[in-house]
Amino acid sequence: HAYLTVVAERALTQADAADRWIARRRQEQGGPVDVRRLDPSERLVGIPWACKDVLCTEGVRTTCGSRMLESFVPPYSATVVTRLDEAGAVMLGKVNMDEFAMGSSNENSAFGPTRNPWDLDRVPGGSSGGSAAAVAAGEAVFSLGSDTGGSVRLPASYCGVVGLKPTYGAVSRYGLVAFASSLDQVGPIARRVRDCAIVFEAVAGPDPMDSTSAPGPVPAVLPTLEHGAGGVRLGLAPEYFGEGLSAPVREAVMGAVARLEREGATTVEVRMPHLEYALPVYYIISPSEASSNLARYDGVRYGLRRPGDDVVAMFSRTRRDGFGDEVKRRIMLGTYALSTGYYEAFYLKAQKVRTLIRRDFEQAFERADVLVTPVSPSVPFRLGERVDDPLQMYLTDIYTLSVNLAGLPAVSVPCGFSPEGLPIGVQIIGPAFAEARVLQVARAVE
Ligand code: GLN
Repeated sequence: HAYLTVVAERALTQADAADRWIARRRQEQGGPVDVRRLDPSERLVGIPWACKDVLCTEGVRTTCGSRMLESFVPPYSATVVTRLDEAGAVMLGKVNMDEFAMGSSNENSAFGPTRNPWDLDRVPGGSSGGSAAAVAAGEAVFSLGSDTGGSVRLPASYCGVVGLKPTYGAVSRYGLVAFASSLDQVGPIARRVRDCAIVFEAVAGPDPMDSTSAPGPVPAVLPTLEHGAGGVRLGLAPEYFGEGLSAPVREAVMGAVARLEREGATTVEVRMPHLEYALPVYYIISPSEASSNLARYDGVRYGLRRPGDDVVAMFSRTRRDGFGDEVKRRIMLGTYALSTGYYEAFYLKAQKVRTLIRRDFEQAFERADVLVTPVSPSVPFRLGERVDDPLQMYLTDIYTLSVNLAGLPAVSVPCGFSPEGLPIGVQIIGPAFAEARVLQVARAVE
C-alpha cells in the first residue's frame, strides 16, 4: 500500500518521451548509449520515481494523506517535480504518508498505513513511509520525501534504503504543502547513495519561487562521492548513545564506525549538552508553525467543505471531519503555545534553546567533519504498537529532530540488520551545505 494514486497516462507519456530521447542519442552516437558517459543532468531520463503526496503535482490529486485534501487537484507543480519532469524522469504516482507529514509510522494516513516490505506486520516508518517502502519493494527506482524532524531518514532506515535530508534552503519548498516552515526540507530516497546524489543534484539549487531557498548554486556532490573515508574525522557524541538505544542498533552503528576506521577515518568524542532538549523544543516549534500553516484549511479555499448554517459552523465541521486525531492534537498544542501569555514561556523559550542546540553542532564541527549517530533507537516496530501512545511515537525521532532544528544536512544509510533480519540505518550529519561530505562518508559505509 505504498501508492495512493498511480498516474499511468502521465507516466506513459513521459516514458515515450524518454524513449525518443534515447533513440535520438543512439542515432547520434551510432550505437547503444553508455550510461556511465552520460552527463549527470541526463542520468534521470526514463527513470521511474515515486512522489510523496505532500508535493503538489499539476492535474494530479495531492492528498497529503488527509481527508481534507482527498479530492484536491493542484493547478501547479512543486519546483522539485518540475525539475524532475525536465530531467526526463518518469513519475509513476503519489505515495502514502502520515497526514500532513505528522507521524513516524504511516499509521496517521487517512487512507490506511503502508507496510514495511521487510516484514508486512511492521511499520515502514514515517512520515515518508510510502516513499521508502516503494523504493525498498522495487516499485520505484527513487522517490522524494519531506523531512521536518526525520521523515526522510527514519523511513529510509526502517526500509533498508538511503535517504538524504538536505541543508535548509538547499532544495526549493515551492509546492511542498507546509507543515513547519522553519524545519521542512524535501529530500531523495534511493537504494544506493549514488542514486540519492544524482537526484539531489537534479532538484537542488535556488528557486525564485521560494524565498527560503539559498541563493547561489548548491555545491556538487558527485565529484567527491568515491573519495572514501580516509582522513575523515568522525564525531561521536555520547548523548546519542545513552539509555533508550537498543542493543542491535548500537552494534550496527558501531560496526559502521569500525568499518570507516579501517578505511582510514578517525574518531573524536564531541559533546552535545543541549541535545536532550531537542524533543521538547521540536514539539513546541513544529506544532506552533503547523497550527498557523493549517489555518488555511477552512473549507473555503482548498479541498473539503462541510455545509453549515453560518460560517463558523462550516469552518468547524470541515475541520472536525477533515483532520485526523494527530493533526488536531498538533493544532491544539501549537495554538496553546502561541497564545497570549504562553508565547514567551513556550515558543520564545523554545527558539532560544534551538539556538543553543545549533551552537552545540557548530562546536562539534570544529573538531569533527561529520557526526555519526543512530537514526532511531529501535528497529521498525509492529503496526499498532505505538498508535495509542503519542510520546512513545515522538521518541522514535529523538536522534533526527535536532538536525532540522539546526538546518543541517544528514543522510541515513543502511549499516546492518537486527537478529530478526530487520534493517538498521546509521545517520551521518554534516555542517550546512556539506552534502558532498555526508554523502561521501555514507558511500563509504555502503
Ligand atoms: N515524526 C515527526 C513528527 O511527527 C517528524 C515528521 C516529519 O519529519 N515530517 O513531527
